Amino acid sequence: MHESMLENGLDFILNAANLLKKAEDASNAEEKEKALKYCMLHLSSGIELIMKFRLYIDNWTYIFADMNKANRRDLDNGDLITVDYERCIERLNTLCDIEFSEENKKYLKSLRRNRNKVEHFITDATTEALEVSINNALTATLIFLQNNYEDMSFSIKDMETRKLTEKEKNLLSEIINVVSSLQEHHKEALTLAVKQASMVSLESELVECPSCREKTMVISDSNDKCHCYMCGYEAKGETAAREYLFNIEGVDEYSIVKDGGEYPLYICPECGKESLIEKDNTYVCFSCRMIYPATEIQFCSECNNPYWVAKDEREDDIGLCSACLKYKIEKY
Ligand SMILES: [Zn+2]
Ligand SMILES: [Zn+2]
Ligand SMILES: [Zn+2]
Repeated sequence: MHESMLENGLDFILNAANLLKKAEDASNAEEKEKALKYCMLHLSSGIELIMKFRLYIDNWTYIFADMNKANRRDLDNGDLITVDYERCIERLNTLCDIEFSEENKKYLKSLRRNRNKVEHFITDATTEALEVSINNALTATLIFLQNNYEDMSFSIKDMETRKLTEKEKNLLSEIINVVSSLQEHHKEALTLAVKQASMVSLESELVECPSCREKTMVISDSNDKCHCYMCGYEAKGETAAREYLFNIEGVDEYSIVKDGGEYPLYICPECGKESLIEKDNTYVCFSCRMIYPATEIQFCSECNNPYWVAKDEREDDIGLCSACLKYKIEKY
């Protein structure tokens, strides 16, 4: 049973890649959605299998959800609860020394989240955003496969050395074929999206889209909304900033506040909307596009809101925002 894990996993992944191609060529929305749905289900099953097989090669006990209860008989009978997706990635990392780039880890995890949502019919992502997310997860999967399985013979602990079977080899090369044509298509779409976005914003001011994660979102376009040219995501600045913090930075307001921390979303000194976030040594407002160098933003000792202090005015700064300063002056 466990010997066929790799072949099954590869089969699922190839199937998913073909379904994504089908979705991209689909002529109507219904057909596209259906292809994407099965694509996501097959892809996450496939990824889970190839990751588990990698754990299994290192040490068969690693695939048990509870490694303390691992035993050979349950393994041989297939009578076991296996490790879940997220922990699989962790164990590959900590037990097998397999590094995933932060980016690829995010792609794989967000695929899983989308998969769960689609399964329960609660996804709010556009089909375009799902396509992008799947494409990136497929690329991450291919990297994992090439690093760990291609042209490789591996020894399974307590067992003889084994090479990829002919069938596995064929599946792998087919996957490489389909995925590279998908990547080509993805690259073209991305180039086009960046080009379109750059017509309304400086390319350096584009930000990662909370929905598809590509750096193709324009902050506050002519409709006063953030808009992604890759997947069509659109939201008001306040909403987009919150979704950015959650999906891109992994900042969850509920758990931060629960632990007594401060949620890093601030009121913009320029437009007064709660859509200012810190990003790459700057503060960026998702409503009015204002960008401040981080060194020029101070936090008011009275109301805690950020305010702007120009470089050459720092000596005059007394730690108060203009509203609080005005209030104090009027009081006396
Ligand atoms: Zn997007
Ligand atoms: Zn603003
Ligand atoms: Zn203040």
